[in-house]
Amino acid sequence: MHRLTAALSLALAAVLASGCASRSFDAAPDGDLLRVERTPDALITALERANDHFAHAPDATTYRERDALAQSQSPPVGVLACADSRCAPEWVFEQRPGRLFVVREAGNVPDTQAIASLEYAVAMLDTRVLVVLGHSACGAVGAAASGKDPGTPALRALVASIEPAVAAHREHASGDELIGAAIDENVRRGVRALAENSPVLGAAVEAGTLRIVGAVHDLATGTVRFLD
Ligand SMILES: [Zn+2]
Repeated sequence: MHRLTAALSLALAAVLASGCASRSFDAAPDGDLLRVERTPDALITALERANDHFAHAPDATTYRERDALAQSQSPPVGVLACADSRCAPEWVFEQRPGRLFVVREAGNVPDTQAIASLEYAVAMLDTRVLVVLGHSACGAVGAAASGKDPGTPALRALVASIEPAVAAHREHASGDELIGAAIDENVRRGVRALAENSPVLGAAVEAGTLRIVGAVHDLATGTVRFLD
């Protein structure tokens, strides 16, 4: 049985190797998508080329770590961050794969799916810190502060989930000041919601094995300010 599996693996490896060679992805690509023509075909081709490089010509550390991480993961820290392209937690905290368990969606609001993902990290992967990470100039918070109809049912639901954070400051702030206060407030509410809406996370906090903290990333300076 094992011999058969090994033979199949070898055959599969040979097929994969020949397939890759025929695509002639031999040079390290320029992986910067901002320099690629903005058409679906060109962008997908760029992604394929970049991944080919990632898969077949990694640096030594990536090669070693990928091997180890393929066996298991135990990220010490989880992050609930906005989907904004400028605030990737792995980039902001300079962490390689396997270190951060990241959930992202516009406005970093802990909905049911986000809570489920973070519960998995804490219950199964020994994650000990969760960071709710907001950021300056957040478009989702800005949309909620504008009071305008965002136009689709999904966007209305997203904005509605952020509106309480805006409402808490609307009486004493406006414009950019309101958006800034709402960004902090939205993060604080996210921290509370994780502990209150999840028995798993709440119990871990209670037991002292988990801390949930809020933080706001300044896009211009790169600084992350941890909230009290
Ligand atoms: Zn955002």
